[in-house]
Amino acid sequence: MKYGVNEQGYYGDFGGAYIPEMLYPNVEELRQEYIKILSDPEFKAEFDQLLKDYVGRPSPLYHAKRYSEKYGANIFFKREDLNHTGSHKINNAIGQILLAKRLGKKRIIAETGAGQHGVATATVCALMGIECIVYMGEIDMERQAPNVARMKMLGATVVPATSGSKTLKDATNEALRDWIGNPVDTHYIIGSVVGPYPYPDMVARFQSIISEETKKQLLEQTGSELPQYVMACVGGGSNAMGMFYHFLDDEEVKLIAVEAAGKGVDSGHSAATTFLGREGVLHGSRTILMQSDDGQVVEPYSISAGLDYPGIGPQHAHLFKVNRAQYVSITDDESLNAGLLCSQMEGIIPAIETAHALAYLEKMTFEKNDNVVICLSGRGDKDLNTYIKHFGF
Ligand SMILES: *Cc1c(COP(=O)(O)O)cnc(C)c1O
Repeated sequence: MKYGVNEQGYYGDFGGAYIPEMLYPNVEELRQEYIKILSDPEFKAEFDQLLKDYVGRPSPLYHAKRYSEKYGANIFFKREDLNHTGSHKINNAIGQILLAKRLGKKRIIAETGAGQHGVATATVCALMGIECIVYMGEIDMERQAPNVARMKMLGATVVPATSGSKTLKDATNEALRDWIGNPVDTHYIIGSVVGPYPYPDMVARFQSIISEETKKQLLEQTGSELPQYVMACVGGGSNAMGMFYHFLDDEEVKLIAVEAAGKGVDSGHSAATTFLGREGVLHGSRTILMQSDDGQVVEPYSISAGLDYPGIGPQHAHLFKVNRAQYVSITDDESLNAGLLCSQMEGIIPAIETAHALAYLEKMTFEKNDNVVICLSGRGDKDLNTYIKHFGF
């Protein structure tokens, strides 16, 4: 694949595995095993079965009629919000728990921002009867209290990360520290296409089911498996990578990745990584991240906990640099308005993360017959309090 990872774990200038020496055995084990395990027919069969009967796949490709009328193109929603646990994150969690089992691991750790990846991980650990420890920023635990309760109910231990901004990147640091201390029996389920190689490639492969299904569904519904536009929001970038994956080599398909501008790109309260970031190393890979002149990670901000991350996955950094995908950004207010619009025009309350992708429709112009696919990455139940506070329902 032209835009895929090379044997050294790089996408152009980005990727690799920048890890402390003490993590080397863990990451090296994964690197040596993941392709073998993922291409094993028994693994594939178990993965497919669980995606079908447990997650509820294939997720529908829904032709949004009222949106199509409003925006003057055929707008399709890829309904990852209908998955068990409410977002795309379960696809990756199922894949990694099956991988961990085959590696003989007895203990799972994870980090979470919005709580969606933590819930997905706690869910698959309950499913498999494996111990689960989830690290979560103290502030995110307040913002996403219902998800904390869900994880506990599912039997997971939730550990607050109390350093730095007390959000996702701090939880990631805590999880890495745990993994260094428990190299033999523990698998670290990373929730996005970030981290040292092979994680970005492994997570992208698990999420690529999104575009694999979309191509078939588009062929059935439109007569062509290729749309004009494919759009998704980007935190670390896993739903976007899954949505883009099987379209990457179809150069005529325009890929649009929507970042969180927070209170505005220039406001000092933003998470628009490609606008504000520079090349550097974050959480084990070379990528684009928001950093100060002396290389300190800048605290990101977004109303959406899932997009509140100072970097993007290395493959996204590459797609950005070589101009294969277009990276744009949407503010808090624009996303909240888009969430309201989608609720009232399509009867679907989207996650605020997802609403960022929907909001960008307002800034586009289409030809009448354009087919546009948006990844509806998650449902908005978890965000109800934020919507209530903003709109005063
Ligand atoms: C976590 C999350 C995201 C952001 O993560 P990516 O890895 O960028 O996909 C987007 N949407 C929803 C609903 C999420 O839960």
